[in-house]
Amino acid sequence: MKPRFVILSWHSIRVLENRYADNDLIAFGEDLATLDALGWTVLPLSEALAGLASGNLPEKVAVLTADDGSIMDFEAFDHPTCGPQKSLAQRLYEFRETLPTDSAHRPHVSAFAIASPTARDELDRTDYMSLNVWRDDWWAEANASGIISIESHSWDHNHGSLERTVQRDNRRGDFRFIETEAECRAEVDQASDYIERRAGRRPRYFAYPYGQASDYIRQEYLPRHGPALGLEAALACDPEPVTTDSDRWHLPRYMFARDWQQPGDLEKLLADSQARA
Ligand SMILES: [Zn+2]
Repeated sequence: MKPRFVILSWHSIRVLENRYADNDLIAFGEDLATLDALGWTVLPLSEALAGLASGNLPEKVAVLTADDGSIMDFEAFDHPTCGPQKSLAQRLYEFRETLPTDSAHRPHVSAFAIASPTARDELDRTDYMSLNVWRDDWWAEANASGIISIESHSWDHNHGSLERTVQRDNRRGDFRFIETEAECRAEVDQASDYIERRAGRRPRYFAYPYGQASDYIRQEYLPRHGPALGLEAALACDPEPVTTDSDRWHLPRYMFARDWQQPGDLEKLLADSQARA
């Protein structure tokens, strides 16, 4: 079998009910236990990529990621309909506390945040009942915690709920419309600059909004400009393991609620990731 690891993703904002299938926070906690029980090792994205590149990657490695950057990535939250929620980071701390001192796990989540403060404010009003879930005052503390890193999910996600995005014709709701140098500068460079200022650390990874990438950003812009911007890889959402054949600027990953939905599904997904050529 070719060396490989899997990248898994959740959205901490997705809290609909207090049960696995409808609550990414609960699913994340149970999935951590499943990974451990099945002999998988949690590693930070940087370590998994370094291990793959150097030929020293252990078998059965899982990398944890979260998209959109809601406050529930990091802080406890009193949800208006579902009540108190433990964050992804809190669940990771709890998981870490159960581990023996010689555990191979390095509990960590890469959190891909929308950079633009005005876009986050607008999304909070339009889509999230002004719950104040898209703040960024926790980013620096999150980075300092060592258990979560703030990475880039673009400037404004070219989000369909915004009045106006950086896309040249204001065509929104699909990140494939970001396909000129000016748009890439606005979505990628501007996001990294803001996140570095606000979070005290420059993002090393970029996750394409909606998992979508134009040929231009994937094949030209990021390969040419990414390294100078401090970026080492970009993540999409094709459901397959990462191998040495993977495109560094379009790494695949699995998404909760799309690629696994119920307790038990993750075990099948992991077995399938091992069985692929
Ligand atoms: Zn997103």
